[in-house]
Amino acid sequence: MIDYLYKITAQSINNKKRDRVFVYKNPAPQYSFSAAEVEDYNTVLTGQLEEHLKRGGFALTEGNKLTVGALVYFLVENGRAVRLSRVEIPRIRYNYSRTDRLPQAYHKCSDPEHLCAACQLFGFVADTHGARGRIIVTDARWLSGSGEHHQFFPLKVLGEPHPTSYNFYLIDPHNHNQVRNYDGLPITDNRGQLGQPAGDVQLRGRKFYFHHPCQDWAAYRCADPDQFRRVLNKVKPLAPGNSFQFQVQFRNLSDAELGLLLYCLILEENLRHKLGLARALGFGTVKIECQSLMVTRNGDRYTLLDAPSEDETSKIQQYINTFKTAAAGSNTEGVSFDDLKNVKKLKKILDPSQAPANPDYPGFTWYRDHKNKTLQKL
Ligand SMILES: [Zn+2]
Repeated sequence: MIDYLYKITAQSINNKKRDRVFVYKNPAPQYSFSAAEVEDYNTVLTGQLEEHLKRGGFALTEGNKLTVGALVYFLVENGRAVRLSRVEIPRIRYNYSRTDRLPQAYHKCSDPEHLCAACQLFGFVADTHGARGRIIVTDARWLSGSGEHHQFFPLKVLGEPHPTSYNFYLIDPHNHNQVRNYDGLPITDNRGQLGQPAGDVQLRGRKFYFHHPCQDWAAYRCADPDQFRRVLNKVKPLAPGNSFQFQVQFRNLSDAELGLLLYCLILEENLRHKLGLARALGFGTVKIECQSLMVTRNGDRYTLLDAPSEDETSKIQQYINTFKTAAAGSNTEGVSFDDLKNVKKLKKILDPSQAPANPDYPGFTWYRDHKNKTLQKL
C-alpha cells in the first residue's frame, strides 16, 4: 500500500528544484469534472509530450490520456474540479544505463578489421567505415496451404516490459543467485528492497522466444477487445501448414562462410526458427529447408555470357561441417561447435520438443512479488 508519493521537479531556470509530497487522504474527498475538462487535459498533454520528445529526458510514467488512477493537479471551483493538469513522476534514474551493462561481446562492431560473422556477411556501417553485404534474401512467395485468416484477429494483449524486474534483464556474472539492479546494488527481498554493496552486473544476453505447444485459436484471442482498444493488435495470422519459397543470393563466400549461412537457415532437423509477429504468444514457428544450392565458381560469370552453375545441393552438409570445424578451431575454449555453451543453449530454445510446458510470461503479481527470485538456468 502506497501512503504518499514524493516528487522532485527538474531544475528550473533559476536553478531551483521543488519537492512535493502527495498524501493519500482516507476517506478521499470526491470532486466531479466535465467532459470539456477531460478534452482540455488531453489537448495540453499532447502538446507537453511533443515538447518532451523534442527535449529528450526521462521516460514518462504519465504519458497516457486521462484515465482512472492518473495523478493530476486541479483547482476547485464551486465544488467541481477544473483546470486538470498532469503530475509528472519521472522514473528513477540509474547511474548506469542499459548500454553500460551490455557485455563487450554484444557491442556493435566498429572496427572494420575485427567484424563479427554477421557483419562480415550482411555488411556494416560505423562512422566512415563500411563493408558491403554479400547476402541478399528475396521476398518469400506463397506456395501452398490454407492461407491467412479470413478476418482480422484481435491478438491477446501482453503486458509492458517491467524495467524494475531486474531478474529478467540482468545477471551477476559471478553469482547467478544474486539479483542486482542496473547500479549493481543487490535486491534483498521479493518486493525489491535494495541493499549494499554494489557488485558486478550485466545484461543477460539476447532475447529469444521458446516455441509453444499448438493451441486452439481462442488461446491467442483478446477476450475483451473493447477494453484494450488502444493497444490492440489486429492481424490476419496464417494457419499452420502454409509453405513459402524464397531465395538467398550470395557472393564471394568462403566454404566456411557458406556453411555458416546454410546452418543459420536450416539449423538442424529438430530445430525451428521463430519468425514474425506475436512470437511471445506462440506464433511464428517455422521450418526452413534448402531445396537446392547452386554455386558459380572461378569468376566464370565475368568471362562467359552463360556461366554454368554447379548444383551443390548434395554438398550442403559438407559446407556445414566445414563451418563447424572452423568455429571449433577459432573458439578459445577449444571445444567442438556442438559443445559450445551458447550453441547448446540455442539448441534447447529452438527445439519445440524441449519447450517449457507453459512458456507464457508470468502475470503482473508474479513480477511484483518475485523481485528477488533468480531465473532458472537453461
Ligand atoms: Zn557485427
